[in-house]
Amino acid sequence: MRIDLHTHSAVSDGTDAPADLIAAAAAAGLDVVALTDHDTFDGLAEAAGAARRLGIGFVPGMEMSARRDGASVHLLAYGADPAHPALAAELARIRSGRADRVGPVLERLAALGVRLTREQVEAQAGGASAIGRPHIADALVAAGYVADRTEAFDRWLRDGGPAHVDRYATELARAIDLVHDAGGRAVLAHPWARESRTALPPEVITALVAEHGLDGLEADHHDHDEEARAELHALAARLGIVATGSSDHHGTGKIDHDLGSCTTSPAAYRRLFGGEGSAAEAPVQPV
Ligand code: AMP
Ligand code: ZN
Ligand code: FE
Ligand code: FE
Repeated sequence: MRIDLHTHSAVSDGTDAPADLIAAAAAAGLDVVALTDHDTFDGLAEAAGAARRLGIGFVPGMEMSARRDGASVHLLAYGADPAHPALAAELARIRSGRADRVGPVLERLAALGVRLTREQVEAQAGGASAIGRPHIADALVAAGYVADRTEAFDRWLRDGGPAHVDRYATELARAIDLVHDAGGRAVLAHPWARESRTALPPEVITALVAEHGLDGLEADHHDHDEEARAELHALAARLGIVATGSSDHHGTGKIDHDLGSCTTSPAAYRRLFGGEGSAAEAPVQPV
C-alpha cells in the first residue's frame, strides 16, 4: 500500500487540475491519495469522481493557513465537512486575506523596479479559489524576471523577503478546534520546516495534543532532514498520535516533491481514519 496524504491542485497553487492530479497519482502507483489544497475544498468533488473512476483510494482534505506565536504554520484537515458554517466562514476569511495581499505585494515589487499587474497574476492563477505567492511567482516567470518559482521566492517572495507581505491566518488552536467541529482529523503539516520550527517546539505540540486533541503530525516531508524526521516520529510515538509522511506535491510548481516521494504507512493511515482505537468512520472511498 502506497499512501500520499498531502497534494495540491490548480484549485490552489498546484499545477494540475484535480482530476489530472488523481490520474497522475494512479499512474505513479499510489493506492491512496489525499487532495489538500490551501484553504479550500473546491477541488474535492472533481478529485473524488476521478478517484472512483480510476479505482484509487481517496481522502478529502484541505491545508489550512494558521498562525502560532506570530509564525505561519499549516494544518492538514482530513474528512472535514466543507459545509460546516464556522469552518467555511473562516476559510472564506483566509481566502479574502490572500486576495487582499496581492496588491501590497505588487506595490513592494514595483518599488524594487519589478513591474507586474494584478491581471498578470490573475492570468497565472487561472481562476484558482485560493490565490497565493506561487501565482505571483508564475507571473514573474511569465514576465521574464526569473527562471522559476524558486528564484522568485529566493529573491523577493520568501517569508521576510523584500516583497513579502503577511496575510490573515487562524490561530492554530482554533483551527484544530474548527476542523474537529467539522468532523475532521487535524494533522500538523511539516511542523519543523524552516518557517514553523521555532513556533512548534515539542512542548507546544504536546500541549496541542493534550488541550486540543491534535491527531497527528507530518514527520516525513521534504522540508525535514533525517534528524527532524526521526525526532518527530519519536515525539508522535511518545504522545500517542499518528506520524504521517507525504509528498506535498504541487505538480510542476515545486521540484523534488513527486507524488509518492514521501508516504504514510498503512498502520498510521488506519489509526488516523478509524482503525484500532477509533470508532469514527474512515472518510475514505474503498480502495
Ligand atoms: P502563500 O500560500 O501565498 O503564503 O504562499 C506559500 C506557498 O508557496 C507555500 O504553501 C508553498 O506552496 C509555496 N512555496 C513556498 N516556498 C516556495 C518555493 N521556494 N518555491 C516554490 N513554492 C514555494
Ligand atoms: Zn502550496
Ligand atoms: Fe504547507
Ligand atoms: Fe502543502
